[in-house]
Amino acid sequence: MNEETKPLNFLAQLIKQDLESGQTRGLVTRFPPEPNGYLHIGHAKSICLNFGLAEEFGGRCNLRFDDTNPAKEDQEYIDAIQADVRWLGYQWDGEVKYASAYFEQLHAWAQHLIAQGHAYVCDLSADEAREYRGTLKAPGKNSPYRERTPEQNLALFAKMRAGEFDEGACVLRAKIDMAHGNINMRDPILYRIRKQTHHQTGDAWCIYPTYDFAHGQEDAIEGITHSICTLEFADHRPLYEWFIQHLPVPSQPKQYEFGRLNLNYTVTSKRKLKQLVDEGHVDGWNDPRMPTIAGFRRRGYTPQAIRKFCQMIGVTKADGVVDVAMLEHAIRDDLDKNAPRAMCVLHPLKVALTNYPATQTELLNAAGHPHNEQLAPRQLPFSREIFIDQEDFREEANKKYKRLVLGKRVRLRNAYVIEADKALKNAAGEIIGVEARIIEGTLGKDPSDDIKPKGVIHWVDAQQNIEFEVRLYERLFNYPSPDAGDKNFLDSINPDSLAVITGAKGEIGLGQAVPEQAYQFEREGYFCRDSKSAALVFNRTISLRDSMGKAADE
Ligand code: ATP
Ligand code: MG
Repeated sequence: MNEETKPLNFLAQLIKQDLESGQTRGLVTRFPPEPNGYLHIGHAKSICLNFGLAEEFGGRCNLRFDDTNPAKEDQEYIDAIQADVRWLGYQWDGEVKYASAYFEQLHAWAQHLIAQGHAYVCDLSADEAREYRGTLKAPGKNSPYRERTPEQNLALFAKMRAGEFDEGACVLRAKIDMAHGNINMRDPILYRIRKQTHHQTGDAWCIYPTYDFAHGQEDAIEGITHSICTLEFADHRPLYEWFIQHLPVPSQPKQYEFGRLNLNYTVTSKRKLKQLVDEGHVDGWNDPRMPTIAGFRRRGYTPQAIRKFCQMIGVTKADGVVDVAMLEHAIRDDLDKNAPRAMCVLHPLKVALTNYPATQTELLNAAGHPHNEQLAPRQLPFSREIFIDQEDFREEANKKYKRLVLGKRVRLRNAYVIEADKALKNAAGEIIGVEARIIEGTLGKDPSDDIKPKGVIHWVDAQQNIEFEVRLYERLFNYPSPDAGDKNFLDSINPDSLAVITGAKGEIGLGQAVPEQAYQFEREGYFCRDSKSAALVFNRTISLRDSMGKAADE
């Protein structure tokens, strides 16, 4: 489907109408992460949506750090988030924005609400406040501090800012309606005391605005026209609108909600991902098994494939669970078309080609990719001894096994047809080598005696090759919904999600591989060089087929 005929998602339709009717002059969106963790695949959906809409309608998209909770935030996350957004292929408008840059303005607006009789300082403890809040069925009760005068409240709020109260001693609340059907409207908290150093503002503040009080006003300051967030904020929309109506803000943003991305076999909560990192269940935020952008990147996923996946899943007004196989499909599809080919033997078994001259090495030509001619061809050294995979040789086998068998022929990929004569064994009876012969005249041709090989196997020259470690990854979780209900997601961790193979033998050119560039190791899967290890290590990006599909020669 080309760009023009692509159906618009409901947000794009709405924006199109707003622009056509003149309701909106130019589209401005934002992606507003809290810098309290690395971005995950759910954030990728929000990034593709916000930046994608801005691109589609010639608008702008801001990157704004929603940094109102210094206790959990860190510069490391700020840097990582910017790198991830860029890697996905997007550029924000102008400078990076910070909620903390608006603290003075937000504070002034809080004073404005107090002066208008719309906010008050409340001394109820957290427990008392919970009791006063009521429930979904029962209305709340007014706080005994609710009738303080604006003068009293302004003075108390000034003391809060000056650091004269302990954390938790009091909060600033909006004065709305303790009997409101929507609990978010029952005098929500605007400011709380946090004696914390902030990564951007240092010790300038000891009171910090809540998400609800900050978010809409930040949007208004930046002239955001469409403030797009996930469904769980739908209940906060009346409050978002209440602030915009009661404050002298410079613009009137509107909030719209869409369904968040949930993936099976995956957790997408920064808190839980952080726990995996902190407790050492994985090798950092960019562990190749993590559903983080940084993890995908280290694993060899491409930005194009992630964007394609976000396009495939679409944008709806309902939450749902997407099968992780769809993401894997998008990756495979991209790598199949674009990954250069190479050969690597994971479990080497030496084959001596007894009729090949001991001192000879020839260079055989191999394509960089079967269809994509942009990928440079390779030259493969070939000599008397080669490695094949242990799984590709049997002394005897039935017809379904189309690999090397004693007395039978097989084609070596990009090379000769060979025939196996003898299995060499150690004292324990284990096969430690094979003697075979090349069939002359079979480079790129069938044997002249018409005994055709049944299959093709990969190989690596035994003299000129490069040895490395390979890490095979499986899904990090064994169960489709690791964190459903009150399940502890740690109980679903797959103990076999990482298998390390040492002593794999790869074709010589792989010594030049750069991190993040995935290769198809023929017949084995897609792999890319690890970016974290000093030694040469390859991560399996993804297998060739999903576990449902059977390899043709098995
Ligand atoms: P988490 O629950 O992982 O901490 P969050 O929503 O608290 O996520 P933020 O940093 O606040 O994380 O998110 C930034 C933006 O990304 C928000 O607009 C949020 O709606 C969006 N977002 C977060 N998770 C998802 C998801 N799973 N699907 C779609 N959008 C998401
Ligand atoms: Mg959040």
